[in-house]
Amino acid sequence: MTIMEFKYDVPELSKGYANKTLYINLDKMEIKIEDVTPEMKDQFTGGKGFDLFLMWKYLPKDKKTTWDDPNNVLCIASGPLGGTSNFPGSGKSIVTAISPLTGIIIDSNVGGYAGPFIKYAGFDAIAIQGKSEKEISIFIDGEAGKIIIEEAENLPSETYKIGTLMTEKYADNERDKREISVISAGPGAENSYWGCLNFSWFDTRRGYVRYKQAGRGGTGTIFRNKRIKAITIKKRNVRTQENNPADIDSVKEIGRKHTKEMVDLDSKQNEMRTIGTVHLVPIMHDFDLLPTKNFKYGRFDEHEKIGKEAYRKRFNKGPDPCWKGCAVGCSHGVSNFECKTGPYKGQKVSVDGPEYETIAGCGSSWYVGDPDGIIETNFYCDTYGLDTISIGTGIAFCMELYEYGILNNERTGGLDLSWGNNNAALELIHQIARGEGFGNIVGKGIRNMKEYFAKEYNLNNDEIKLMNDIGMESKGLEFSEYMTKESLAQQGGYGFALKGPQHDEAWLIFEDMVRNNIPTFEQKANALWWFPMWRTSFGLLGLCKLPWNDIIPEDNLDFATGKILKDEMKVPEDIADPAKIPEHVLNYVKYYNAVTGNNIDSVEYIKKSERVYNIQRVMNLLLLPEGVSFRDIDNIPYRAMGPVTEEEYLSREDEYYLKQLKEEANIDTSDLSVEEKMTELRKLREARYEKLKNSVYKYRGWTINGVPTIEKLEELEVDIPELIELAKKHQ
Ligand code: SF4
Repeated sequence: MTIMEFKYDVPELSKGYANKTLYINLDKMEIKIEDVTPEMKDQFTGGKGFDLFLMWKYLPKDKKTTWDDPNNVLCIASGPLGGTSNFPGSGKSIVTAISPLTGIIIDSNVGGYAGPFIKYAGFDAIAIQGKSEKEISIFIDGEAGKIIIEEAENLPSETYKIGTLMTEKYADNERDKREISVISAGPGAENSYWGCLNFSWFDTRRGYVRYKQAGRGGTGTIFRNKRIKAITIKKRNVRTQENNPADIDSVKEIGRKHTKEMVDLDSKQNEMRTIGTVHLVPIMHDFDLLPTKNFKYGRFDEHEKIGKEAYRKRFNKGPDPCWKGCAVGCSHGVSNFECKTGPYKGQKVSVDGPEYETIAGCGSSWYVGDPDGIIETNFYCDTYGLDTISIGTGIAFCMELYEYGILNNERTGGLDLSWGNNNAALELIHQIARGEGFGNIVGKGIRNMKEYFAKEYNLNNDEIKLMNDIGMESKGLEFSEYMTKESLAQQGGYGFALKGPQHDEAWLIFEDMVRNNIPTFEQKANALWWFPMWRTSFGLLGLCKLPWNDIIPEDNLDFATGKILKDEMKVPEDIADPAKIPEHVLNYVKYYNAVTGNNIDSVEYIKKSERVYNIQRVMNLLLLPEGVSFRDIDNIPYRAMGPVTEEEYLSREDEYYLKQLKEEANIDTSDLSVEEKMTELRKLREARYEKLKNSVYKYRGWTINGVPTIEKLEELEVDIPELIELAKKHQ
């Protein structure tokens, strides 16, 4: 039954923008379309910036908003470059809201067709506030210029079911299915804080609906809390021309060049077109970085069983773009997979993935060496709408507590969570999705688990300390799947990330630990400024990061070090670093200028990101609990810094720890017990982390408590008086 119908004129896009935003209030069943002003573009650029603009506009400023308050604003945006179909990776969108896990702003980027379709349907961003009384679905018809809100009590919430149903409902014919994208969550999102959003596209080659996930921080949980079952968007003929770039010839030329490079070099480099991010499994193992047994170790004996050859056999052939024209095409999947557990037991299903993060989180970190077991976990997480990273890290935490007896069969409701027991982990996932038994506790995330276990099981101080040391969360968000113990810079990359420990802000392990290119605190702080700001730009513009650095020019080193020129140009000083892939940075700047008609350089490009980054940091001040500072929440568990247990220490003692104690702390370890050496190492590493915090805050222009200074906000030309006032109160 239709609850409301709203008609609008579909605008023509201009220089990458629709120049409108859409606001839906589910309390009042109100729909508003508002103009995007030139000032809004200047301050916020687009994408995540526009999401934040809308959050700032609609969130109450006089009280702290919790994630399940109807006032929480769920925003989705593409970006001015989003929806281009000839430059690789131009189909991403970004979701923001107040997270149930962290209580602050989460941003989660996602592929699939929905983001570009929303823009081409007329909206640079959409904001949804309020909470519907009934289950609803929203249909944005970008062809007819109509938004329809309908009752959806009888619709399933399971991802694949609802995606297929809505695609069939709104497509006029088989061919039309490619012009539909569905955003949905699932039953897991109803019953846990790990709910993700699934963004669909219809895969014409395979003939079924596929998905990418906005995985982090519980965006799906918020979606279902607002009682939305699906948002379906329809838009035909989405092409580069329709984005109306200022200089289409330049866009085509840059797109052709970047596409050719991806196609020519991929098979010689990471094979993204055939095995996707799975190529990382052996690399991470070789460098001792593959989380194994809840990040205790970095190598997994059975890594080959879950490595690239295992999935090469299982993946469907060919490049698999999650957006039109992405030459990297890394979104692989498995067809005709037979489930062995749960409601689909015995049925053949199609699975999107697994990607590296799922393999590491739900494979090596659980000590599972069964590639099919990981595929089944991947399938059920997607079906239930659960984030595989939080599931991986959260269940690994439980497995380690089970090893130490803090959890046992009585406390888990009979689940034997021994390392490697994939079936028990799957049963736990089914419970999380149903909101039942032990699953109901686990699905609330590691931070809540720690509190619950400490209280309900009357744990002693040592047990509580152990839990705090090995529970891999920061700010309430579970860590993504890289070991950071030996990379101080990446400890900061996770700890200082605005939303919590997700590697999309900074991934500095190779530069820091493997190549030793940033040995000083100043150099680390510089890297922890440039890379997060650079990476933020992808979320502002509607882009995917993978085509930036997963396939790189063969002469990258020579250009970056000034040995050769490109287009008769020497590498600019600010990006003269091979890790920055300077030729690609210049491509992106050109691409941005060609679409928007602006004329900025790489310095100004970073400044745009830095402005939004700092705005997000200040906005989080609205949400911090009383008496808690950014300095407090930027902490990470000790497991991320160093060895918590004796066996963990001994496994790396010779390679790392003795040397560091001698050279950095000037300690003669010959007469020290293992426990004493571990204590000294901990003192040293915790002090280094605090020192890094000071260096990074200073470099970023933040106070000692991690708040952007007024001088910094002025330097960035932030022109939002109320926001400046908020920052002033916390200087
Ligand atoms: S590189 Fe992969 S994830 Fe990124 S847009 Fe292309 S297919 Fe999607």
